[in-house]
Amino acid sequence: MWSHVAMDEQSSGQLSAADREHLERCVALAQEALDAGDEPFGSILVDSGGKELFADRNQVSGGDRTQHPEFAIARWAAAHLSVEERVRATVYTSGEHCPMCAAAHASVGLGRIVVASSTAQLVSWRQEWGLDPGPVAPLPISVVAPGVEVAGPDPELSRRVRALQARAQGIAGTSDA
Ligand SMILES: [Zn+2]
Repeated sequence: MWSHVAMDEQSSGQLSAADREHLERCVALAQEALDAGDEPFGSILVDSGGKELFADRNQVSGGDRTQHPEFAIARWAAAHLSVEERVRATVYTSGEHCPMCAAAHASVGLGRIVVASSTAQLVSWRQEWGLDPGPVAPLPISVVAPGVEVAGPDPELSRRVRALQARAQGIAGTSDA
């Protein structure tokens, strides 16, 4: 019998070297967002041949709290890709889609999602840091969009995302936890 920890490891085992490379790019975009005063989230859209089609990062500092990269990807895909291309495309993201973005992803018929860190992780970090849960229920993609295949999180990359989230919240000394 596997423990929950073993199940998590199993889940990250679905990631290929190419998946990790795309996730590295997302974490770099999250870093860029944080450096610009936005929240540390970054995402890219990759076609079935492994080519990056579109990239974005969180841009909420202007006051529009819906400026999430995964939402921008869904809108870009709806405008630029055929139905078949969308199904075969993969969205990589530093942090699992929120319910708004998961709904957008499923509504435009996009394919697989690969996450560096999960919503469950973000919830546990925020609890640990004594932060309030925020206005939107932290539902996983699997609940909002049950037909979408999700892979991840990645243990090493999620530690880096945790450090970025800590920095965003002004939490010190958690970068190597
Ligand atoms: Zn979102």
